[in-house]
Amino acid sequence: MVRVTATVENVSVIGTGYLGATHAACMAELGFNVVGVDIDPEKIASLSAGDLPFHEPGLPELIRKHVQSGQLRFTTDLNDVGAWADVHFIAVGTPQVKGGTGADMTYVDAATTTLTQAITKDSLIVGKSTVPVGTAARLADLVQDTKNPGVNVSLAWNPEFLREGFAVEDTITPDRLVVGTTHEDDENVLRQVYAEALGRDTPWISTDYQTAELVKVAANAFLATKISFINAFAEVTETVGGDITTLADAIGHDTRIGRKFLNAGVGFGGGCLPKDIRALQTRVAELGLDHSMRFLDEMDQINLRRRKKAVALAFDLLSQDVIGKKIAVLGITFKPLSDDVRDSPGLDVAARLFNAGADVQVYDPQGSHNAAKRYPRITYTPTLDEAVTGAELVILTTEWDEFKTLTPENLNNKVTTRRIIDARNVLNPTTWETANWTFTQLGRKQPE
Ligand code: NAD
Repeated sequence: MVRVTATVENVSVIGTGYLGATHAACMAELGFNVVGVDIDPEKIASLSAGDLPFHEPGLPELIRKHVQSGQLRFTTDLNDVGAWADVHFIAVGTPQVKGGTGADMTYVDAATTTLTQAITKDSLIVGKSTVPVGTAARLADLVQDTKNPGVNVSLAWNPEFLREGFAVEDTITPDRLVVGTTHEDDENVLRQVYAEALGRDTPWISTDYQTAELVKVAANAFLATKISFINAFAEVTETVGGDITTLADAIGHDTRIGRKFLNAGVGFGGGCLPKDIRALQTRVAELGLDHSMRFLDEMDQINLRRRKKAVALAFDLLSQDVIGKKIAVLGITFKPLSDDVRDSPGLDVAARLFNAGADVQVYDPQGSHNAAKRYPRITYTPTLDEAVTGAELVILTTEWDEFKTLTPENLNNKVTTRRIIDARNVLNPTTWETANWTFTQLGRKQPE
């Protein structure tokens, strides 16, 4: 089969959410002509006007710059790119299927089918979405079955490792590039796309489809396991005493272990880790290997228990009666520097307390508009001061810088009662206890 060997100039990105909008803007920054395609007309209108419909540091500037220069466009019409792009990236969502634990592949399947039918120029489709192993091989067959006669279209898999909050940096200067292909011509096309990173000696892992797909889910499973591992020890130190942060520091000095992702607290969330470990388990079970990834179910349970533990601590501190009690929840995005509240531990804690009858006042620097779409009856305050004023309990659930640097002096005269749960273990216990606060962290034994 003849493949794309000419110079890559035009690139399309299908799906312009967190991953796709970032990828599209960064491809423009790397010098390609780019069109981003999405089925959501509001998102496309906003991006076309140079506005980013979500929070990601540094990305609005890139979008505006390249939309203004004409190098980056957005459309809802796939036919716009079928006759134009040399390379098409698929970056649509793969959420957890409703009522189950597997990945919902309807978006990837629909995007691939419609795109392939729209393609009238020899080109390469590159999957970036996180998918169950076996997807690329299945889609490669689908592409050959649905492509227009006389047009050469092939498929590569190139999983994405960007972190929300650092998405631009991670896309322009990735720490590795993984490409799964079935032909070296396709790999060479991707070498052109990523020439700048390759010029900086970025590790380039060229492999088959299955390995490329599995690298992504293995990385996420490992990160989730690290977090749940330290949180399992937090359950022990909560009972026997001891200091979970010192424990993490001490084992983290061992370079074989490393300190990153060993912060005990209310656990992981977001649009990737939870659904990816569930989808991985589901996929291996389909393959008859359910025992191989059974430990991930335990990691998931440990993680979910942390949210319940934070709520139980709130009940303990309020003498088991939260009804009508004013509780300030600081942080409802799943991590700082993002407005993403998908499967967010902080939002879960806020919602559980709200549903139990507490007067929950949420403050988050970026996430309130998204949280309000899911839980419109919770109160979201525009400032931290408004959330904490009159509070009988403060709970820190996301480690935004402005919460990490809080001191008792910031809150002493605002709260009704000096009680705080630091559910991310980022505050100094001595500082708060000295200022007569009832100070609680996850992984810390409560005073009798
Ligand atoms: P998202 O929900 O923010 O964006 C998905 C976008 O795809 C939406 O805008 C949706 O309208 C669009 N879409 C759906 N069907 C479409 C179609 N047929 N044609 C065109 N557009 C379509 O999701 P996301 O966070 O960007 O994640 C996308 C994929 O990337 C997922 O597989 C995810 O696991 C993976 N991923 C995400 C991140 C991250 O940090 N968000 C990092 C690495 C990998």
